[in-house]
Amino acid sequence: MDFTLTPAQQTVQENARTAAHAVKERALDLDRRGEFPQEILFQWAREGLFGLALPEAYGGGGHDYLTYCLAQMELAQACPSSALLLHLNQALFGQGLTLFGTEEQKQHYLPPVARGEVLACFALTEPEAGSDPGGLKTAAQQEGEAWVINGIKNFVTAGDRASYGLVATVTDPSLGAKGISVFVVDLENTPGVRRGPVEEKVGLRGAPLNTLEFEGARVPAANLVGKLNQGLKVALAVLDGARVGAAAQAVGLGKAVLAHARDYAKERQQFGQPLANLQAIQWKLADMAADLEAAALLTCKAAWLRDQGQPYSTAAAMAKKVATDTAMAAALEGVQILGGYGCLTAYPLERLFRDAKAGQIYEGTNEIMRLIIAREVLQG
Ligand SMILES: Cc1cc2nc3c(=O)[nH]c(=O)nc-3n(C[C@H](O)[C@H](O)[C@H](O)COP(=O)(O)OP(=O)(O)OC[C@H]3O[C@@H](n4cnc5c(N)ncnc54)[C@H](O)[C@@H]3O)c2cc1C
Repeated sequence: MDFTLTPAQQTVQENARTAAHAVKERALDLDRRGEFPQEILFQWAREGLFGLALPEAYGGGGHDYLTYCLAQMELAQACPSSALLLHLNQALFGQGLTLFGTEEQKQHYLPPVARGEVLACFALTEPEAGSDPGGLKTAAQQEGEAWVINGIKNFVTAGDRASYGLVATVTDPSLGAKGISVFVVDLENTPGVRRGPVEEKVGLRGAPLNTLEFEGARVPAANLVGKLNQGLKVALAVLDGARVGAAAQAVGLGKAVLAHARDYAKERQQFGQPLANLQAIQWKLADMAADLEAAALLTCKAAWLRDQGQPYSTAAAMAKKVATDTAMAAALEGVQILGGYGCLTAYPLERLFRDAKAGQIYEGTNEIMRLIIAREVLQG
């Protein structure tokens, strides 16, 4: 087994580290004010980070998925919200069209998304359909050369400003989860699309989420992504890849926790010595470091399997579950190491603690990840 990164992977990793470092302080400030991280996204777009693993033919960087994950591990250390928004363009919308889009769709939608000129979103979840896509109600009905969409999507990250979206709809209600189709929708230029107000939430305050309401929204038949009634396959394949990216974000977040907690423990004096001299604190830091390394290895393995064209759904579920649980556990302990200061917004731990939680929920909850893993275990 060779764990050496290629020169290209090392270069991207170093560039992403520099790009993350440059925005670290600003990210913290934006979170306190609950502002959208537009400047950070512009900066990362200028540095070519939005389309790293999207095909060069459509404006992307043409790198493999492992490279994208290595970049995410750096970017999420500085600003998990911005890393998530970039992830939407790249791993959800971008990979969705790359894997399943027609040539026309790729040529039209991918270049601005890959260059980070516009934001894109992925609208699967609905008020009555979270973990269970079989509950989807948003319907698309064919009328001549168009499909007319009616229904409500919620929890749409960047739904307040995304230019394009991949939207999962029911095209044959008699088939349940097997009657779903995905459409690419121009959210700015399609009459009948309404954006709901941005929700207040516990963390990732820079990555807005809201409802998208469709009322008689007409979408050309050419906007069908993948085959008719094969939308579940599209959504699940996209989510497999996205989960690996989400795992990489969680590793990045956890590494940021470890760095802050370590620096604090080395500086803070109690009982006449730095906290870092206390074995109880060292064990916390050691557990964080070891668990984050394990999470990073699982993430890299899942990304590598994807790059090799091998089955990787279970590996993706394992990486996502382990990495997001590890980030949450690290954030809890990180706050504890800072004591009272861990609860103050003036210190970064408080934000990382809030940001970590959603990772255990989005792109499939960690209970659903366990179902995926258990399915394979039980086949053995
Ligand atoms: C910050 C954030 C961003 C998001 N962004 C997007 C986005 O861009 N696009 C999008 O489509 N969605 C998005 N989501 C939605 C997210 O994917 C859903 O919240 C998630 O899939 C869970 O659905 P739910 O909230 O309806 O919970 P439910 O499905 O109602 O689940 C509630 C609880 O029950 C558990 N549960 C449910 N079914 C089972 C089962 N069979 N076995 C064991 N336990 C089970 C769950 O694990 C969970 O703990 C986002 C969510 C968050 C928090």
